[in-house]
Amino acid sequence: MSEVLVVVDHVDGAVTKPTLELLTIAKRLGEPSAIYFGGGAVPSVLAEHGAEKIYQLDDAAYTDFLVAPKAEAIAKIAGDSSPAAVLLSSSAEGKEIAARVALKIESGLITDAVDVTADGVTTQSVFAGNFTVQSKVTKGASVITVKPNSANPEASAGAGAVEAVSVDISDAAKGAKITDSQPKAESGRPELTEAAIVVAGGRGTGGDFSEVEAFADSLGAAVGASRAAVDSGWYPHSFQIGQTGKTVSPQLYVANGISGAIQHRAGMQTSKTIIAVNKDDEAPIFELVDFGVVGDLKTVLPQATDEIKKRKG
Ligand SMILES: Cc1cc2nc3c(=O)[nH]c(=O)nc-3n(C[C@H](O)[C@H](O)[C@H](O)COP(=O)(O)OP(=O)(O)OC[C@H]3O[C@@H](n4cnc5c(N)ncnc54)[C@H](O)[C@@H]3O)c2cc1C
Repeated sequence: MSEVLVVVDHVDGAVTKPTLELLTIAKRLGEPSAIYFGGGAVPSVLAEHGAEKIYQLDDAAYTDFLVAPKAEAIAKIAGDSSPAAVLLSSSAEGKEIAARVALKIESGLITDAVDVTADGVTTQSVFAGNFTVQSKVTKGASVITVKPNSANPEASAGAGAVEAVSVDISDAAKGAKITDSQPKAESGRPELTEAAIVVAGGRGTGGDFSEVEAFADSLGAAVGASRAAVDSGWYPHSFQIGQTGKTVSPQLYVANGISGAIQHRAGMQTSKTIIAVNKDDEAPIFELVDFGVVGDLKTVLPQATDEIKKRKG
């Protein structure tokens, strides 16, 4: 059975959920091998989710420079192992690495897949979610980036054999050096693009996100915002969802006081279940919801929050 390389996304050894989803998808395609950039003990969760082999690459080049050294290293491993596929998470970094790897190993590239079948056919949602495209790489190992929440992580024991790999990184790959970095301020909420539940607010909040945040917290959800809310200075730009903001694809998306403009839909239309709260029953958002509440978010959300808290005990 061919290897399927999964590039591990982690913060100081804490492996992200999208990586576990990739391992689950990898099992459909072949034998999962994880590529882990970092020193110390390799996280056991990789083997617990099916990684038969774990390539460990511990070199300052991977943290001191931008993505080019990682792309070179992954391309080298792919060249040596002839995998069936290389899977990465659809983050900005994942997509940039994927493009570089595909070019180096002369393979086809598919980004933002929301599903991958056992025979390598991917599903993508394109043009603001108006079309669903199925495609397959026909040249070389498939290099595929997969959106978070595209699979449920399934535990299954893999051998987890760690193999230390050292790659000579070219000077050309060390062109852009990281000179400083700062940890993101903790909000206590999940990362927006990875969250299983996203609660978003728009112009209808009138600038007060407290009901939206309280509802999100009752569900353990991330908070997002429409561009109108962000442009008004009501919420930071990094939380904008849509064509010019972030793309989210959670299990549940709750839009509050958001009209559903095409540019907003472009960032959330692949959410599995969509709920909207809007006081205008003709708001375009109601065209794509699974469940709609016509009402004022200032009265609907506090009631929903209380009810959820009550049921959670
Ligand atoms: C090139 C380009 C890129 C863009 N990129 C993005 C993007 O990435 N993301 C994005 O979101 N937009 C984007 N936009 C803007 C987009 O076109 C819309 O203007 C924007 O999404 C509207 O935000 P909104 O729904 O919050 O506001 P509005 O369209 O003003 O809608 C507010 C809604 O709130 C409802 N409402 C009001 N008060 C209440 C209340 N008390 N309770 C319940 N409902 C209430 C109203 O009925 C209305 O439906 C882009 C536009 C362009 C041209």
